[in-house]
Amino acid sequence: MRSLNRRSFFRAGAGIAGAFGMQNLLAAVEDNSTPYHRPKLKITDVKSANIVGFHVRIYTDQGLYGDGEGVDAVSGGPSIVQGFRYSLVGQSPLNIEGIWERIRTSGVFGGAQAGQYVATLTAVEIALWDLAGKALNLPIYQLMGGKLRDRIRVYCDCGTDDRNDPQAKAYINQVIENNFTMTKIDVDDAADPARFDRVNWTANNAEIDHMIDKVQFMRESLPKNIELAVDMHARYDLGTAKRVAKEMEPFRLVWLEEPVPPENIDAMKNVRDSTHTPICCGENIYMRWGFRELFEKQAVDIIMPDIQKCGGLMEGKKIADMAHAYYIPIAPHSQASPIGAMATAHMLATVPNFLVVEWHWSHPATRWERWKNFVKEGDIIEKGYIAVPDKPGIGVEMNEEYLRKLPGVNWFPA
Ligand code: MG
Repeated sequence: MRSLNRRSFFRAGAGIAGAFGMQNLLAAVEDNSTPYHRPKLKITDVKSANIVGFHVRIYTDQGLYGDGEGVDAVSGGPSIVQGFRYSLVGQSPLNIEGIWERIRTSGVFGGAQAGQYVATLTAVEIALWDLAGKALNLPIYQLMGGKLRDRIRVYCDCGTDDRNDPQAKAYINQVIENNFTMTKIDVDDAADPARFDRVNWTANNAEIDHMIDKVQFMRESLPKNIELAVDMHARYDLGTAKRVAKEMEPFRLVWLEEPVPPENIDAMKNVRDSTHTPICCGENIYMRWGFRELFEKQAVDIIMPDIQKCGGLMEGKKIADMAHAYYIPIAPHSQASPIGAMATAHMLATVPNFLVVEWHWSHPATRWERWKNFVKEGDIIEKGYIAVPDKPGIGVEMNEEYLRKLPGVNWFPA
């Protein structure tokens, strides 16, 4: 009954969230409640787990917990998250902006502007949003200002791009039969026999011919209404990037991704200025300060921050809003499980300049099987879209019974 009382209290506070925004939410709830009903929700513990990826769970004194996920830059995440304990335990999980800023600024001398520190903080931030939503009985999109769309367009990373691949037809048919409206391929090939050097990434004519053939093959195999993007994985030098971008122009790609490494924004702009092929980058850039120069120099056509890596849901929304000021759409990179993917979907529902989000679990078949069973709600992608749920928090719950049986799973150890 204690839980019901708390929920009914927070239901009364639901309107307050929309009116004041998250920063002032805690103060508003406290101002509008009596001392007898004032929320006493406090964080009691934070744990992390390896569940196919890196997951964080934040616990409270009222039995509610929140789940978050970080990706890519999470090696060392379990020890980093324990370093965040002193900023979390005893705090109200509703004070998300305050907790985030305290952890970020306290880590400045430890590299808190990028990498593992920010990716781990990202997982914590998402867990706080899940917790706040559960405590207030509201979906995350509602806490972030309300939704502009009910469903989120997803593109399927294809898994093949080689006309000699015996699996090619099956992978391409998966994209078509599951009603995806877009797919992506990788044209960088470290094992290309035409390469002269194992280290340097200046592509020769034969390598560029191979890249064009991959795109040609995909365009021949896909119906016209399925769009195509191409990833170069931040490997190549400037001259190669410009040559490839030019060669790709007839294929009318949605974008060419990371044609050069992301840290030299002038080089990225040089590529963009040289071609009609739209240029996209962002999965290796962190927080709004990382993206600032990209916008100011107008070095890209599309950004693709990873919302499980760039700083979190609110940071992703701030980056999206900055992009909006420059008329740049956001098309997030994503490797996340359905927990991270659905958290991302809530945020993307609230920004006007959302284009499409990645999905990378279609291959091999065992990975897709895990995707379908990861949360109790089953496969959250239907006909190429994720419907944003109205349940509290992220709105999907891990299928513990299934996940505990997977190899390598380390379920929130004490
Ligand atoms: Mg990429």
